[in-house]
Order: sequence, then structure tokens, then C-alpha cells
Amino acid sequence: METLENHINGKRQLPASGNYLEGYAPATGERIALIPRSTEHDVNQAVAAAKEAELEWASLSKEVRANWLDRIADALEECHDEIARLESMDTGKPISIARAVDANRSVANFRFYADLIRNLEDQEFQMSDATNRVLRRPVGVGVLITPWNLPLYLLSWKVAPAIGMGNTVVCKPSELTPMTADLLMRVIEKVGLPAGVVNLIHGTGAEAGAPLVEHKDVRFVSFTGGTDTGAVVARSAAGSFKKLSLELGGKNATIILDDCDLDRHMDAIVRASYLNQGQVCLCGSRILVHSSIKEKFTRRFVDAVEHLRIGNPSDESTELGSLISPEHLSKVQSYVNLAIQEGGTLLTGGGMPCLTDGLEGGNWITPVIIDGLAPDSRCSTEEIFGPMVTLHSFNSDDEAIKIANGTRYGLAGSIWTTDLERGERIAQSLDTGMVWVNTWLHRDLRVPFGGVKDSGLGREGGYWSLGFYSEATNICIMKDE
Ligand code: NDP
Repeated sequence: METLENHINGKRQLPASGNYLEGYAPATGERIALIPRSTEHDVNQAVAAAKEAELEWASLSKEVRANWLDRIADALEECHDEIARLESMDTGKPISIARAVDANRSVANFRFYADLIRNLEDQEFQMSDATNRVLRRPVGVGVLITPWNLPLYLLSWKVAPAIGMGNTVVCKPSELTPMTADLLMRVIEKVGLPAGVVNLIHGTGAEAGAPLVEHKDVRFVSFTGGTDTGAVVARSAAGSFKKLSLELGGKNATIILDDCDLDRHMDAIVRASYLNQGQVCLCGSRILVHSSIKEKFTRRFVDAVEHLRIGNPSDESTELGSLISPEHLSKVQSYVNLAIQEGGTLLTGGGMPCLTDGLEGGNWITPVIIDGLAPDSRCSTEEIFGPMVTLHSFNSDDEAIKIANGTRYGLAGSIWTTDLERGERIAQSLDTGMVWVNTWLHRDLRVPFGGVKDSGLGREGGYWSLGFYSEATNICIMKDE
């Protein structure tokens, strides 16, 4: 079992309280780590270190900072297998997913932003008598708060553009999944990044996250997590006008039109529903199917889901792992019960899979499909964030759009059709930040990422991240006569 430490001013540091939280492997329930239970004292030290490093780091050229990002990417890449192993152990996700999604993307995030920042040019706007030059200056000290579902994937998505644009940061990963954040700090120490540029505080949202967001020297907060927590963070940051980026929850619709090629797309539709046990903010947890193919779709979908291989996350052939915690498992189970109370029919799942070899103590549930619920029922509109999908039918494109838009969330959606024009037309009517047609989670790191309504505020990704992690200053110079 490992005892983790905070990372402040380039050094490992024990929590001032001397207290630790216990970290468990979700697949077995086994205790795997002691995690610093940081408090305001640690927060103050970490912010002070970031503040101290701010001026010198900001004074470096973007090329020099981009080179640092590349060095971190190289060193992370050397730990590729270790990232996948730790992420799989810490989250309960299958090792193949941890490798293909988490480890690959964490390295790619640093490389991508190294390139983008290295090639970033100042904008210029000519007037007949003057030249406007727009500079991108660092914002200052920032706080980066991340959830447990894609730990290093999301942390690296914030750290790379934030420091690449000349800011210094304090990170606060989820207390449930601290292992790869710790690995990133070891990588950062190894490459010798100047002390104080990246600091990391472990601990709970209430004891470590909240004082970080409130800290007077913090100028921006990038937060990914639940909508309710996002509202708390937004209220706290508003008092001192901190820049804020919020990537929050979702209740995404997967729309299957009557001309969908089920042979071609069924595997992708199943993946969109259950990747990472449905614990991806973009997962399609409501499937809306044209009534003319509903029966055929349902039969094939249930069959495909029942064939998903659930089990030991470290087994290469495993497709579904465990949920993150006993509390989250109880939440998902309570929604299965609620679905039945709301008049739904349980088509499959909701039980404990038959597992041995120590996995009996993990947070397991077989993937759930519920049919027959009203589109405005609680199970069809609230974010469950687990392996549970509700099926609904529609008779026209307009009805599908109305159902899809009928929640407080507006993160993403997908449309499955052989008529690409029709797919794009429907996509334009969805009230979400992102829509895929005949694909899902197909990511180009240059494009904007984020949601509308209660799914968030602002966009990250590509130049949108660079915009958030910088302040635009316009210098208008009058031309000589
Ligand atoms: P939470 O909102 O519970 O937590 C997110 C992070 O915020 C954690 O590090 C948590 O710490 C911290 N935190 C909690 N309270 C506070 C506070 N008062 N001040 C500052 N920080 C705080 O989300 P989960 O970790 O449960 O993640 C799941 C959620 O994240 C889902 O709703 C999902 O949709 C969303 N998500 C959104 C994404 C997007 O891009 N839109 C991507 C991925 C997930 P701790 O947990 O350690 O207490």
C-alpha cells in the first residue's frame, strides 16, 4: 500500500494535519493507498508556491514553455503502461480502456498543446490609421479541479494549456482516484520543471477544493465535475471575479433514426452507452429509437449488452469493469428501483455478476436497460452516471428533438442514420455543445468541448482552452502620418 504526498514548490510534502484518507481499489474493495487529507494550511502553501513562481514562468517565451510540455509528454509516454495499470486499479475500468483512452490521451494532451502553443501567433487588426495587436498574457495562479472518471486524461487536458500559456497552477484531483495525479507529479519532478509551476493538493472537495477556489490569490478556476458542485464552485468564485470554466454533467440522447444501419453501428451504440461503465459525461444514457424499428433495435441491443464481458479489469478481454465506489453503486441501484416504481420495465441487468478471485468485494452491477419510461420521468432526465440506459420511441424527427432537449442538461448527443443531411439537420436543433453523427466520442483536440444549460460554462479544447487560460490585451498603435 502506498502513502501519497502533496507536491508543493517542487517538493513532496506531508499534509499539515497529519491525517490521511483511505483509497480503495473499486474492483476488489482492497485498500491501496493513504491519501493526504489536506486542509487550508496546505492550500495556502501551494498557492503561495504558485504565486512565487508566477513571474519567472510567465516571462519565458511560448517556445520555451512548449518545449517543457514536450518534455513532460516524452516522460509520460515512458510511463504509458504504468498510467494504464494505475488508472485501471484506481477506477476499476478495464485495462484495455485505460491504455487506449486514458494513457494515450494523457500523453497526447501535452504534445497537442506543445504544438498549438509553439505555433500560436499574435492577432493583428489593421485600420486605415492604426494597428491593433492582440497579446495573449497569462492570467496568473489557477486552480484545476478534476473528477474520478477520467483522472489523468482530464487533469492533463487542463495542466498542459494552463502552464503552456504561462500560468502557474494548483491541482486538486478527486480523492477517489489520486494515483495518476501522483504519477504526473513524479514525472514533473523527473523532467525538472521549475518549482512552483505545478503544485498538487490531495484531499476532499470540502477541505481542500473549497479553500482553493476561495483563495484570494487565485485568478482562475477550471472545474470538471458534477453540476451541483459546479454551482457551489461558481458561487464561491464569483465574489472575487475569478475566471471560470465549468465542465459539468450530462444526460445525453442517442437518436436512432428509422434508416439507421444497425449491422454497422450497433457496437458503437453499445460503446456510447456503456464505455467506462457509463461513467463518461458524454455517454448516451437515453436511447431514442424510431417507433418503426424499436422492436428490432431493442432485441439486438439487449443481446449485444448481455454479451459484454464484465469482470477483472486487469484481464485484457474485459469490456466492463466495476463502478467507482460503494456509494455510487448504491446510487445506480436506487435508480434501477426508481425506474421500476416509475413504471419502467427492466429488460436486463441490475444484478451482481458472478465473480470470484477477490472481486466479490468490488462495486459491481450488470449493465441495465430500462424500457417504457415516460421521457420526462426522473430516470430519463436526471444524470445517473452509470451503466444504465433508458429506451424511448418517437415517430418524427421533431419529436426526437423535443425529447432530446427535454432535460436541464445540454452536453452532447449522437444521431445514427444513413441520411447524413437529415442527421446534420437534427444535430443543428439539439440544444447541446457537441453532437456526433454516426460516431461517438470521436475527438479532434482542436475542436471546442463543453456544454450548454446546466452542463457547463465556456468551452475548452484547442484555441478555446488557450483563450480561457490567457487574458487578451489589445494594443492600438496610431500610425505615423
Ligand atoms: P464532483 O462534482 O463530486 O467532484 C469533482 C471534483 O470537485 C472532485 O475533485 C471533488 O473532490 C471536487 N469538489 C467537491 N466539492 C468541492 C467544492 N466545494 N469546492 C471545490 N471542489 C470540490 O464530481 P465527481 O467526481 O463525482 O465526477 C462525476 C461528475 O463529473 C459527473 O456529473 C460527470 O458528468 C461530471 N463530468 C463532466 C465532464 C465534462 O467534461 N463535462 C467530464 C467528466 C465528468 P472530492 O471528490 O475529492 O471530494
